[in-house]
Amino acid sequence: MHLNIKQADIKQEIEELAKELNYHCYRYYILDAPVISDEEYDRLYLHLRRLEERYGFVLPDSPTQRVGAPPLEKFEKIRHKEPMLSLDNAFSHAELIKFDARVKRFIKSEGDIEYTVEPKYDGLAIEIIYREGYLYKACTRGDGYEGEDITRNVKAIKSVPLKIEGTVVPKEIDIRGEVYMDIAEFERLNKERGQKGEPAFANPRNAAAGSVRQLDSSITASRRLHLACYGIGAVQGMEFESQWGLINWLKAARFPVPAVVRHVKAINDALEVIKEIEGKRDSLPFEIDGAVIKVNALYLQRLLGVKTREPRWAIAYKFPVNQGTTKIIKIIPSVGRTGVITPVALLEPVRISGVTVSRSTLHNWDEIKRKDIMVGDFVTIERAGEVIPHVVKVIKERRRGGEEPALLPKECPVCGSKAVKERGEVAVRCIGLDCPAQVRERIRHFASKGAMDIEGLGDKNVELLHSEGLINHFGDIYSLKKGDILRLPRFKEKSAQNLIDAIQKSKDTTLARFLYALGIPHVGEYAAKLFARNFERLEDMYNINPERIMEMRQIGEKISNSAAEFFNAPNNLETLSSMKASGLKITNPEYEGKKKERQPFDGLAFVITGRLPVPRKDIENSIENLGGHASSSVSKNTDYLIAGESPGSKLQKAESIGVKIISYEDLLKMMASLNPLILSLI
Ligand SMILES: [Zn+2]
Repeated sequence: MHLNIKQADIKQEIEELAKELNYHCYRYYILDAPVISDEEYDRLYLHLRRLEERYGFVLPDSPTQRVGAPPLEKFEKIRHKEPMLSLDNAFSHAELIKFDARVKRFIKSEGDIEYTVEPKYDGLAIEIIYREGYLYKACTRGDGYEGEDITRNVKAIKSVPLKIEGTVVPKEIDIRGEVYMDIAEFERLNKERGQKGEPAFANPRNAAAGSVRQLDSSITASRRLHLACYGIGAVQGMEFESQWGLINWLKAARFPVPAVVRHVKAINDALEVIKEIEGKRDSLPFEIDGAVIKVNALYLQRLLGVKTREPRWAIAYKFPVNQGTTKIIKIIPSVGRTGVITPVALLEPVRISGVTVSRSTLHNWDEIKRKDIMVGDFVTIERAGEVIPHVVKVIKERRRGGEEPALLPKECPVCGSKAVKERGEVAVRCIGLDCPAQVRERIRHFASKGAMDIEGLGDKNVELLHSEGLINHFGDIYSLKKGDILRLPRFKEKSAQNLIDAIQKSKDTTLARFLYALGIPHVGEYAAKLFARNFERLEDMYNINPERIMEMRQIGEKISNSAAEFFNAPNNLETLSSMKASGLKITNPEYEGKKKERQPFDGLAFVITGRLPVPRKDIENSIENLGGHASSSVSKNTDYLIAGESPGSKLQKAESIGVKIISYEDLLKMMASLNPLILSLI
């Protein structure tokens, strides 16, 4: 009896927490007006996850259900109850006037037609099916009749409601919208891909589509995707009267809607709204390629119906494309922090939608080859929003024979060290350790926001301090003296003091931030946090071997090797020691946090051999979720060997050195003794 009351309490606590977290998610991702800090949110989230894990009670709309599903083998198909149509296009205002005339003719009306106008997002159209208010399935548009089941990936998008709340809830409703990626996220993603030697996405639309169509939803979750909802398919248990009414319902039901939606009384007003949207185009954080006009009254929409595959009641007005033609004068290599050398095209300046373009990134030499770009070529350049302009194609008809191939650099353009292209990698790297280009980029990275966050150490000041010889390495930042800075042009008493203060302030940091700041190749913010969770102090990583890092399992070979290489280089360790001596205060909340987590298998090492009833990977994951280690070979550090059917030589080895041998059932019992819920599964 007592237990039941307790369970009811826990259930209520879980429900309240999930509701609260969903509300904060809505405030953050849709209203852009959070009322609690990120830390507070994380704390509540962690608390909910722990309760769910401990008591095995998880709500379908729990925010923890957005992540963690295992990868799929393939996408299942889902048929749309109502086909997802494409829109007819208009390329001028005159064509929009004609559209309005057609509508009037069709419904035999002389009076003005009411419309809604919204931006046309350049993303991927999807449909999300809700049943009894809960997110049930989500799919891509596909061919309009049948799409792919991307439910788990859509759940990973934080602005997508897992449950309809705040208004009338229909029995079933198919919500339609566009998944898109902000330009900043697109650039971050491409930069990350470039560092890993992966091909860049051509534009944010491809990046969004590629992120949604992932078999592994954790990849989708790691990218910041957005949704804008603008329509519905089939609906049961509710009636809408107008598009405007629908938009207002979507808003009330906490769905993200387009950044601008206007209800207008006549086509001329619609043209004004289009001008307004076009005017905002370059300042929006995402790409739009036009505006959509819809007849507002739904009874009129039904009356107008569909012509072949396009509705007669809506039209997409496409903005003129931001393209221009110009000549490539030169292709120069540009060196980044990790030594990756990127080709940049210097162009004859050309004006594209009001901006003069004279440079364009070419990503890598494989891309130059693929697009067959030569120095002296005339090319079509496209510029969209804030994205760095890129070459769309070469105009080969204009070749005159004097064009020259863009050669892969043999050496670094800045320091002259060898430039190496590793097998299987797209990137070319400068291997010079003291390469000034890399040094500057590394200093910039060290001082950047996600790293040590030193205000005042931006591009210009880093270049100045470096060229004046005051900082030759980021390690020198902490021995800077105010007097030295004051001798530089540009600096006055106050600005020098501000910089010194900012540097001083940055000395209070966390291990995760510091590791990220070091700019170790392949070690991004996430990997740095994982390291911090597993190593208490910076010194614990000195002279580490890659196998020890690999034991963390979430860290792959590439990152392990790279980090081990860094922490085995004597000059790096010297730099770190002298930095610490200058008063760095590194705390490690990640490690502390992990210590506090309930980890019943902490410190236990398991090895698996033979055939088991479930995939080995799943067992390893369960062990690790409980804080244990799953390694691949038996040693004296092994605590348990889990032996399945027809075990291999590992069994003999374990027997010979006295490792405890258990069955899969034994393992389940061990887990069960920690978690009563598992008991019911045995
Ligand atoms: Zn170099």
